[in-house]
Amino acid sequence: MTAVPVPVSRTGARVERLPLARFTTLGVGGEAEVWFVSTLEQLREAVEAPYRVLGGGSNLVVSDGGVPERVLRLTGQLAEADLTPDPELSTSDTVVTGWVGGGVPLPGLIRKLQKLGLSNLEGTVGIPAQVGGAVWMNAGTRYGEMFDGLHTLEIVTPGSVRHLTPDDLNWGYRQSDLPRGHVVSRVRLKLRHSTSEAVLAKMDFADLARKGQPKMKTPGCAFKNPGGVSAGKLIDEAGLKGARVGGAMIAPEHANFIVNLGGASSADVHALLGLIRERVGVPMELEYELWPGEA
Ligand SMILES: Cc1cc2nc3c(=O)[nH]c(=O)nc-3n(C[C@H](O)[C@H](O)[C@H](O)COP(=O)(O)OP(=O)(O)OC[C@H]3O[C@@H](n4cnc5c(N)ncnc54)[C@H](O)[C@@H]3O)c2cc1C
Repeated sequence: MTAVPVPVSRTGARVERLPLARFTTLGVGGEAEVWFVSTLEQLREAVEAPYRVLGGGSNLVVSDGGVPERVLRLTGQLAEADLTPDPELSTSDTVVTGWVGGGVPLPGLIRKLQKLGLSNLEGTVGIPAQVGGAVWMNAGTRYGEMFDGLHTLEIVTPGSVRHLTPDDLNWGYRQSDLPRGHVVSRVRLKLRHSTSEAVLAKMDFADLARKGQPKMKTPGCAFKNPGGVSAGKLIDEAGLKGARVGGAMIAPEHANFIVNLGGASSADVHALLGLIRERVGVPMELEYELWPGEA
């Protein structure tokens, strides 16, 4: 049997039509043309036509019909982390690292920094994102966020590669100020010397807050807390814990999480989101992103 060759782009990016369910933490989503970009050159080619950037897929509900644009997945060089301190930028108490790719999984990076006794990003422990997605959203917890540990951001858009510092952006709570489609290709981290024990103790403390979260496939919290009231509490009070549509369920452990019991479709998830909005009776803003967008 002859192997079917995998198509590659002009600059060598692997291009395949694949179900996006494979790349999301919810495990839901139809097909799209996925570009596996492993160099800056390939990324610059990939953004020449309409595109979306996929990180860890941990904040996405992708439609069963997929998306029409090419979907960029950062791999290879863009998923490597050079944590060597830059001698010109580091000082006696601050370490500025080499380049860390946007496609690097955040949990593994946090563990590496802990082992090196480097502090500033441990508050993001337990967020199943990639570095680029976590920077784009300024992901975090009450114990810390991505922008606590950024020195430089490399941003790719059609026709440009720019280097920015956090001071160039009007970043804030769960937002970087980077417009959609600005690809975070790499960053340099700014960290403080600590000890591996002290960093681990902070991670363990931050992790305690996740004890009640479901362990099943999920894109995280469904809704923002309306007017500071816990969305989970409102959904629970509406009697919706454990409610099911098809393969999707409102988690019995925490009502603001929708989980995939196996075989869920995005239509099932949308039906549960609609049910919550109808029953809770106050305007509820989604926490996660819908691809291709609100129906
Ligand atoms: C179990 C669980 C727990 C979670 N806990 C938290 C938490 O404590 N705090 C928190 O803030 N979030 C949390 N989240 C939500 C999620 O992890 C964050 O929103 C995260 O920032 C999403 O990053 P991602 O790489 O998975 O991005 P994706 O979900 O793949 O994409 C989200 C958005 O980021 C964009 N994006 C992705 N990569 C890039 C890139 N390289 N350049 C530019 N844009 C990019 C995408 O285009 C999309 O618009 C949780 C999710 C889960 C499933």
